[in-house]
Amino acid sequence: MVNIPIIEAPDFQDKVLLHSCCAPCSLAMVEALINSNIQPTIFYFNPNIFPQKEYEIRKDENKRFAEQHHLPFIDFDYEHRNWLKETKAFSNEPERGIRCAVCFSYRLEVTAAYAYENGFSLFATTLATSRWKDVKQITAEGHKAAEKYPNVKYWDRDWRKNGFTERKNQLNKEKDFYNQQYCGCEYSLRDVNKWRISKGKPKIEL
Ligand code: SF4
Repeated sequence: MVNIPIIEAPDFQDKVLLHSCCAPCSLAMVEALINSNIQPTIFYFNPNIFPQKEYEIRKDENKRFAEQHHLPFIDFDYEHRNWLKETKAFSNEPERGIRCAVCFSYRLEVTAAYAYENGFSLFATTLATSRWKDVKQITAEGHKAAEKYPNVKYWDRDWRKNGFTERKNQLNKEKDFYNQQYCGCEYSLRDVNKWRISKGKPKIEL
């Protein structure tokens, strides 16, 4: 028996602009939103992903996922060079360090701006479902981004508890979406490969 949660959006909103990092992280969140009659619009803005080939794979998978659920999909810019300018000072930071806070801020600020300009009062991000990320960083950057725009709110909710992570894992086993091997940027690829070599595993080759 599958238990899909019924959730309530802030101010009883019935639509949300959903910044989505990838299909696997979106599965349980979108399922719960649809089950709760809250219409998600998928907003794909992830200029952190390197190389472009990997970006295209993740984007295409996310599009395929949106199509399966008949959801609007906004394909925003891929401006990796600008993202690099913002984060290069923190290239040696570990994952969950300052670089990641800057990366979340970069993506969520653009999401908040899009929400403001396109009539969304609420936005959320699938980044908040990941057990690999520091959710406190994501929440802080989500609120900071929302504060810049009147009448736009960041949906601050725990998307990992109350069965969400278990459901996400179950759906990922059932569906065959591309599952990435590293977070996204060249720095995370470098660090994962360093770790893999130390364990005698083959490098990720793209
Ligand atoms: S490790 Fe992930 S969250 Fe951190 S900067 Fe790179 S892409 Fe962004």
